[in-house]
Amino acid sequence: MAAAPAAETSCRLEFSVEMTCEGCAEAVRAALQGMAGVRLLDVRPETQTVLVEASVAAERVRERLEAAGRRAVLRGMGGPGAGEGTAAATGTAAAVAALRGPGAVRGLVRFLQVSPERCLVEGAVDGLRPGPHGLHVHEFGDLSDDCHSCGDHFNPDGERHGGPQDEHRHVGDLGNIWADATGRAAFRLEDSRLKVWDIVGRSVVVDAGEDDLGRGSHPLSGLTGNSGPRLACGVVARAAGLFENPKRLCTCDGLTLWDERDRERLPPPAPHL
Ligand code: ZN
Repeated sequence: MAAAPAAETSCRLEFSVEMTCEGCAEAVRAALQGMAGVRLLDVRPETQTVLVEASVAAERVRERLEAAGRRAVLRGMGGPGAGEGTAAATGTAAAVAALRGPGAVRGLVRFLQVSPERCLVEGAVDGLRPGPHGLHVHEFGDLSDDCHSCGDHFNPDGERHGGPQDEHRHVGDLGNIWADATGRAAFRLEDSRLKVWDIVGRSVVVDAGEDDLGRGSHPLSGLTGNSGPRLACGVVARAAGLFENPKRLCTCDGLTLWDERDRERLPPPAPHL
């Protein structure tokens, strides 16, 4: 009997996964087996790569791999056919933004254009106060004055602020992400208005408070959703898709992939703001 089709758009995720022993591939298979929304496509211990098709947040897959005792880093995202050498796959546009702020908030947001009308937005932000936080694409990739120089929400159509499902909204309005009790917000959303090619060179900002999606009574509601001060921001940069030149996110200091992963995974300071 065929399984019910996934309601969510799936994409391909390529992970580097620490596999140094005999049986590592089996351990990876066991870790991902039965995980809803995840289909394991390939495990290659010799290159330490794992390829899956997923309709759940990449962060959830990574957490599952790490829970099985293997360090894992997401290396690339592609459309459903990526990695099969099709023209459509190689044409998939992807971008990434590493979020930093003056405080302890850190995050990574990835964008994948799986079709002209569908952009997957994926990521995780740490160091947040538990609860909702507004997330927006802003017009400028200018971090010269912390996140203040990022400009307003990206709004090429001269619209009012709204929620991601609204007809009238800023293109950059992605709504809220939700931080759990540890201060981490892992998210995956699909957007019909955002296009990767329109936002490269702009910025992503996460805010201290909840975006009211333009439905509040505060004067800022129709402008910003009144989501409070900007906690962290990052410039949207074009990113490698699957199986492209495996550039590291940061090539600045010669760290190994695993060093970078460990640095990103240092225990976050106590959640605040
Ligand atoms: Zn807005």
